[in-house]
Amino acid sequence: MACGCCVKVCPLNAIQVYRGLYAQVDEDKCVGCGRCAKECPATVIEIREVTA
Ligand code: SF4
Ligand code: SF4
Repeated sequence: MACGCCVKVCPLNAIQVYRGLYAQVDEDKCVGCGRCAKECPATVIEIREVTA
């Protein structure tokens, strides 16, 4: 929905909304805290494990 709720709550500034269309996470910045997923009204954010 590109509402920007996830962008506001991310403590690492790891999420950007592009062209008002979609949100994208910078995986290099993300620490997996899960705040964005809790905040997303559309529940489209999935926290997954990342292996180096
Ligand atoms: S899980 Fe990652 S993208 Fe989401 S709020 Fe936390 S640091 Fe930001
Ligand atoms: S991922 Fe969820 S909280 Fe983030 S902009 Fe899209 S709808 Fe909003």
